[in-house]
Amino acid sequence: MSGSTRPGFRPGPPLLPGATLGVLGGGQLGRMFAHSAQRMGYFTAVLDPDGSSPAGRVSHHHVHAAYDDIDGLARLAGLADAITTEFENVPAPSLDHLAAARPVSPAGSSVAIAQDRIREKAHFVRCGVECAPYAVIENADQLAAVPEHLLPGILKTARLGYDGKGQQRVRTTAELAAGWHATGGVACVLEKLLPLDFECSVIVARGHDGDMVSLPVQRNLHRDGILAVTEVHRDNLPAELAARATAATRSIAEGLDYVGVLCVEFFVLADGSMVVNEMAPRPHNSGHWSMDASDVSQFELQVRTLAGLPLTVPRQHSPALMLNLLGDLWFIDGDTAVEPPWADVLALDGTHLHLYGKTEARRGRKMGHLNITGPTIEAVRATADFTAALLGLPIPLSE
Ligand code: ATP
Ligand code: MG
Repeated sequence: MSGSTRPGFRPGPPLLPGATLGVLGGGQLGRMFAHSAQRMGYFTAVLDPDGSSPAGRVSHHHVHAAYDDIDGLARLAGLADAITTEFENVPAPSLDHLAAARPVSPAGSSVAIAQDRIREKAHFVRCGVECAPYAVIENADQLAAVPEHLLPGILKTARLGYDGKGQQRVRTTAELAAGWHATGGVACVLEKLLPLDFECSVIVARGHDGDMVSLPVQRNLHRDGILAVTEVHRDNLPAELAARATAATRSIAEGLDYVGVLCVEFFVLADGSMVVNEMAPRPHNSGHWSMDASDVSQFELQVRTLAGLPLTVPRQHSPALMLNLLGDLWFIDGDTAVEPPWADVLALDGTHLHLYGKTEARRGRKMGHLNITGPTIEAVRATADFTAALLGLPIPLSE
C-alpha cells in the first residue's frame, strides 16, 4: 500500500450517503458530479466564482468565491466531508490547502502535473508511454534550438489551454517564432503535427487503496480542436490497440499514485502506432456516454473514489454514441439564438438529452450533449444521422 501518509489520502471507513461531497468548479462536469452524488443520497457543495454556475444552481451549497480565496476555501472545507475538482486549472496550492482540513482527491500533486503540458509529458515519458515528438520552449535559446523535423507542428501553451484554445499551427521556423512571441513568450511545447488515423481515450478510476477499474475505450472525433462525437461499442477499435491504451492509462495513474477519475487521450497514427496526447484529472467529455450506456457512469466513479466506496467494474449494456451540443446549434439560421428542435430529437428511440443549464448560447460553447443508445451500433448511427439532419449537422455524424 502506497501513499498512506499523503495529504488527501482517505484511509478508514467510506463516507456514506448523508455526508456532503464538495467540488471545486461549477461547470457542467461539477453539475453532473452533483447530480450523481445527490442520486446516491449525498449532499453537495460547490465552490465557483460565478454566482449562477451550472453546478452551483443544482447544489445544496454554493460557495461563491475565487479558487484561491482562503476564506472561501475554508467555508467549503467547513461544509464538505471530502472534496474533488471538476477542472485541472484550479490552483494546485488550493487543493493542498484544503487537504490540510479534508480528504481531497485527486491530490494537488497530480493536478499540478496535469495542468502543465511540460510536466505532463515528462510524466508520460517516465511511465514509458510514448508521446508525439516535442520540444519545450520556455525561452529564446530553446526557441532557436527547435529541430526542423518538428515542423510543421502545433505550438501549445504549457498551461491553461482547453478545447484547442492556446494552440497555433506553425509550418516554418519564422511562423514558430512569431507564434511564440504572440503568446507573450510564455512556456510552450511545440509538438510535431502527426498524421492521425483516429483518436481515442480511456477513463480509469482509482481508489485510495490502489484498486482500479476502467471504462471501455472511447473513439473520438474532433472538429476544430473540440470533441464532436464519441463512439463506444465492441468493435470501435482493434482489441490489441484498446488493450494497449488501457494498460498505458493504468500505468499513468499508478505512476501518479492517483486517486479519482482520470482520462487519458491518445492519437492513433496512419501506421497503426499509438501515442499519448494528454490527460485530464477528472471525468471527461468523452466519457459522457457512460451516463446512459454503462451501469456505472464516470461521475458515479468520481463519487465512489471520493467517498472511499468500493469500485465495481463498469458494464456497458448498450452500444453508444455521444454527440456534443455546441452553442453553434442555436445559430443555424442566423445571428439570433433559436432553441434547437428538442421535441423532434427526443421522438427518436434511444436519445438521451443532457443540457447544462447555461442561460446564454454562444458559438463554440458546450451547452450539452446527446447520448444515443440502441441494440446495435448500426441502429445507433442511423438515429445519429436522423438527429444530425434535425439539428443541421453534417451527415454522417460518425467517421
Ligand atoms: P481538449 O481540452 O478539448 O482536450 P486541448 O485544448 O487540451 O483540447 P489537445 O487535446 O492538445 O488540446 O488538442 C486538441 C485536438 O487537436 C486533438 O484532439 C487533435 O485532434 C488535434 N491535435 C493536437 N495535437 C496534435 C498533433 N500533435 N498532431 C495532430 N493533431 C493534433
Ligand atoms: Mg485534448
